[in-house]
Amino acid sequence: MQETLKTVTKTNTDWEAIRSQFPILKHEVNGHKLVYLDNGASSQMPQRVIDRINDYHSNEHANVHRGIHTLSQKATDAFELARKRMRKFINAQYEEEIIYTTGTTDSINLVAQSYGRKHFNEGDEILISAMEHHANIVPWQMIAEQTGAVLKVIPMDNNGELLLNEFHRLLSSKTKMVAVVHVSNTLGTINPVQEIIESAHAYDVPVLIDGAQAVPHMKVDVQALDADFYAFSAHKMCGPTGFGILYGKRKLLNEMPPYRGGGDMIDKVTFEKTTWNDIPHKFEAGTPPISAGVGFAETIAFLNEIGMDNIAAREQELLKYATEKLSMIDGLQIVGTAKSKASVISFLLKDIHPTDVGTILDQKSIAVRTGHHCTQPIMDSFGIPGTARASISFYNSKDDIDRLVDGIKYVQEFF
Ligand code: PMP
Repeated sequence: MQETLKTVTKTNTDWEAIRSQFPILKHEVNGHKLVYLDNGASSQMPQRVIDRINDYHSNEHANVHRGIHTLSQKATDAFELARKRMRKFINAQYEEEIIYTTGTTDSINLVAQSYGRKHFNEGDEILISAMEHHANIVPWQMIAEQTGAVLKVIPMDNNGELLLNEFHRLLSSKTKMVAVVHVSNTLGTINPVQEIIESAHAYDVPVLIDGAQAVPHMKVDVQALDADFYAFSAHKMCGPTGFGILYGKRKLLNEMPPYRGGGDMIDKVTFEKTTWNDIPHKFEAGTPPISAGVGFAETIAFLNEIGMDNIAAREQELLKYATEKLSMIDGLQIVGTAKSKASVISFLLKDIHPTDVGTILDQKSIAVRTGHHCTQPIMDSFGIPGTARASISFYNSKDDIDRLVDGIKYVQEFF
């Protein structure tokens, strides 16, 4: 790895300097400086991660885990660095508990298919919540259909907070898996996952946490949470697309059958019988997204240098500022008003369709997401077609929020 690529600021909370490391934020779109508030969908990469990926392609690329030659070993080390760094980053006990996947969706499908096929039977119950992303609904529906298991849903209130009494009522000896989102991508709610995990464990039920919107925004410690499975994506935390992590407890992963078959995941293959490689490789069939993994290792170093606690504090400050400013706009309603929230603000403008809000904001170069945000059941429960959503990252600024406020006022004038 080239030391010269490291350009991070000495002061780890000099937010201006940190922001300046994201080349895309210097762009103009539609004649205005870009205000990027779609971080919930995908975040941007700092220059050093982009450089690291380019450098890998220019100087280090070979296939991993299979070559005796120097380049292959170098590529393997660069790729495996992300596993080492990630173990520390989320405080997993063992490196082999970090499974490389292509993202949160892939991680959840892995658990649903591998754990579910082995353990779910007719009439067993899978408990999810009313605020799940489709990625934490559909894989469970698919395995339920295959095994005869039944999906149960923990309801929420109008603020977007889970009804924990209902959760406790639903939890029973029939429950075979609890799968809940740590931070809602639509409502911003930070769920009390530690309490949920503790209660599920009292029934000996494993818990999968969808951490796609949590790991990028706060310090997550999988051992402190005692999560059995924890899923997230690199591209939502300033890393590359096509790469993600499934954390799983070693004992559970060891007992689970492979999810996909192919190269790398085997120990010995004959036409009669095949035996499996050890974890993590048992779950990593075929050539992985190597350059993404290499880039992700750099991302973790970058986030560590800033500090996840600093990132969380910065985003809470921006969330507070944005919530206050947006709340002052006549005719604007915030959807998702939980007491404990991450930096996501979904909103509605009276008499204006969210798609129109997004389209007009784009004319001012303000990128927000509109629609159901892959959470159609949330929209159904609020009785709305969709929302506009501003999702804020630590590299955003108060100026970005002011531009959003002006943009929303412009939308209202426009209609
Ligand atoms: N869960 C949540 C809470 C998400 O926000 C997302 C992405 N919007 C996903 C799962 C799916 O992530 P990916 O598309 O990276 O697999």
